[in-house]
Amino acid sequence: MQIAVLIKQVPDSDDVRMDEVTGTMIREGAGAMINPLDLHALQEALTIRSSQGGEVVALSMGPPQAEAALREALALGADAVVFLSDPRFAASDTWATARTLAAACERTGPYDLILAGEKATDGETGQVGPEVAVMLGVPFSTYVSRVEFDGCGSVEVSRTVEDGIERQKLPLPCLLTVLRDINEPAMPTLSGKKAARRAALTVQGMDSLGLSPDEAGLAGSPTRVRRIFRPSLARNPRIFKAGDIEEGIVALFDELESRGLIDEQGPS
Ligand SMILES: Cc1cc2nc3c(=O)[nH]c(=O)nc-3n(C[C@H](O)[C@H](O)[C@H](O)COP(=O)(O)OP(=O)(O)OC[C@H]3O[C@@H](n4cnc5c(N)ncnc54)[C@H](O)[C@@H]3O)c2cc1C
Repeated sequence: MQIAVLIKQVPDSDDVRMDEVTGTMIREGAGAMINPLDLHALQEALTIRSSQGGEVVALSMGPPQAEAALREALALGADAVVFLSDPRFAASDTWATARTLAAACERTGPYDLILAGEKATDGETGQVGPEVAVMLGVPFSTYVSRVEFDGCGSVEVSRTVEDGIERQKLPLPCLLTVLRDINEPAMPTLSGKKAARRAALTVQGMDSLGLSPDEAGLAGSPTRVRRIFRPSLARNPRIFKAGDIEEGIVALFDELESRGLIDEQGPS
């Protein structure tokens, strides 16, 4: 089974700074790591490879420093990587990102299964996976927490949704976006790390993917960031400072009662 895993390099902290003028992310000075959910997608691909055979290929689009994410994917056990990096990919929105990844899947595939994280910790739209599937014309499922193969060319998945677990059966090829409950990612081995450091990595750009300048990067992005701002705090928190815990609880209950949120019997 040929499996592609979409891997995004993200800042390694929640403190993402934005340039309020250009509306883009300030990456300088920020550490970087593989998007945590993508590690679960990669782990699932490695587990499927163990049971079904085949190859795992990790694909990532990003600036030159995103190479580190792909080397880590190799250290974790990916058989091959595809690095999509071109200054003209800069400022891609989710549509242009998906277009680039879909073109790379078409060029380097065909793949029976494409796995992605449910969302990235920085952009956090959760759009890229489903967009790639639509562009490739394959079915997809999101919020996947379990994957099973029936050996008849289809895959059965469990989706964790708000009111429980939903089961879906999809024909291959298909794309799945995964949640963290799906597995526990393994650590890279020392020999894996050494091999990954030595591995030759080729870079693909807009021309080698056969994309025209209006299909990727800023020119291929139908959305624009018009304004970036920190939302003002809508709540007006009050902190109860008290000498002992009982005093604090009494003060809290008095406040809730005065606001009509509870009565003497308890919460209204
Ligand atoms: C108008 C506009 C301009 C932007 N300009 C910039 C910019 O200049 N610089 C910048 O850093 N960001 C920019 N962004 C954000 C950028 O578009 C998103 O980070 C990117 O498209 C992915 O979206 P996301 O983070 O919401 O991913 P999600 O959809 O939340 O990611 C879901 C999954 O898709 C896969 N995936 C997502 N992105 C990639 C990738 N690059 N490679 C491989 N797999 C991936 C991963 O498996 C990930 O877990 C811009 C966004 C907009 C709307």
